Amino acid sequence: MPFQEAVMTGLAPDGGLLLPESIPDLRGRLEGWRGLQFGDLAVELFEEFVSDIPRDVLQGIVAKAFSAFRHEDVTPLVRVGDLHVLELFHGPTLAFKDVAMQVLGGIFEHILAYRGGRLNILCATSGDTGSAAIAGVRQRANIRIFVLYPDGGTSALQERQMTTTPDANVHCLAIEGSFDDCQRIVKSIFGDLEFKGRFDLGAVNSVNWARVLAQTVYYFHTALRFDKAVTFSVPTGNFGDILAGYLARAMGAPIDKLVLATNSNDILARFFATGVYSLGPVRRTISPSMDIQVASNFERFLYYRLGSSEALEAFMADFSTNGAASVEDGRPIDKSILPAAVSEEETMATIGDVYARHGYVLDPHTAVGVAAARRFQPSGPVVCLATAHPAKFPESVHAAVGEDVASHPALEGLADLPERKTVLPPDVDAVKEFIATHASA
Ligand SMILES: *Cc1c(COP(=O)(O)O)cnc(C)c1O
Repeated sequence: MPFQEAVMTGLAPDGGLLLPESIPDLRGRLEGWRGLQFGDLAVELFEEFVSDIPRDVLQGIVAKAFSAFRHEDVTPLVRVGDLHVLELFHGPTLAFKDVAMQVLGGIFEHILAYRGGRLNILCATSGDTGSAAIAGVRQRANIRIFVLYPDGGTSALQERQMTTTPDANVHCLAIEGSFDDCQRIVKSIFGDLEFKGRFDLGAVNSVNWARVLAQTVYYFHTALRFDKAVTFSVPTGNFGDILAGYLARAMGAPIDKLVLATNSNDILARFFATGVYSLGPVRRTISPSMDIQVASNFERFLYYRLGSSEALEAFMADFSTNGAASVEDGRPIDKSILPAAVSEEETMATIGDVYARHGYVLDPHTAVGVAAARRFQPSGPVVCLATAHPAKFPESVHAAVGEDVASHPALEGLADLPERKTVLPPDVDAVKEFIATHASA
């Protein structure tokens, strides 16, 4: 499937996840890539997979995407004690999802300009994804976005990051229900193929191949700064970020291990420790963007691990019937992935301790990764991915440190801006009607 189509479709025709047919071996390119600027390396990596967008167009998309970041290195690396912290939060919404969403927005815009047509993006969010998606597509031609979120179910700050966007192509729909209601509505609308086709609906979920690809850039870029293989610690929810690391490693990036760090929603940590994938209850934690049980991107990893689509289908069928499935072939699940589940207490203690010792403020998601990294003693350097700016989670950070140490000018201004949102009942038809009225002609 051509890259443009894969990006627009999001999912494979059979409902499965799209993957590159084979993972290229890029080891021969690495020396030439050392020292490249972040954006230049991004263009090189995209060129390996994208044959249907010209290089100069890719360069333009990448330049525009990363000019939205507030740091000239895009994703700066900071030393914190024995660890390195890779700050992925300098984008418009202060979370790592901006890295990929900014690129994705540019790719969508290019494809629409080239082929004609329009795109109406529909997504459900419990917080961070919605604002990053909005920031990725606001002001882009021929695109509108409809974001569903639970009314009163996000933090006030997260809601304001979405609803204060002034652009007319952005629609925030506060649903009088739970996040599950929002997801159910979105799923049902995408399932209505006639409606989906009539309104050119598209998705931006973390299964989109362009998002995963964009996230491999920081693994390569960072690993190439060291002369020993690097271990990355990755705060994990939907398995999107760590999947990018896994693929980067498979392509030859000098990566030693990947620490899979979860909060108490530990289905993935348990799987990598035991080989059993079994559903538990969703627990609310102070790292809400990782409060996930079934990780959609995990199927991509399983496909590579199990070796065939038939084996993957059997595994998933088992899981959906019994709520559990296991890999029993006597091999370790994957020696390159080190699982660790981190409790709320340990997360809080880590924020407090790192601040006391190094004066560095971690957000709760990043703290999960730092706590997990401390359990392992790899021989090479350790890089913890910082997935959000601490100012996005001021209450938890305050509780951990005992004072207000987390602020960011981009968030302080939000309180004074006018909000725009539409409150709707948790009803598929109400949302469809809204889309039909507001989709671009
Ligand atoms: C989305 C998110 C994560 C989890 O990333 P996945 O790709 O879903 O594993 C971690 N931290 C923050 C702040 C996030 O927004």
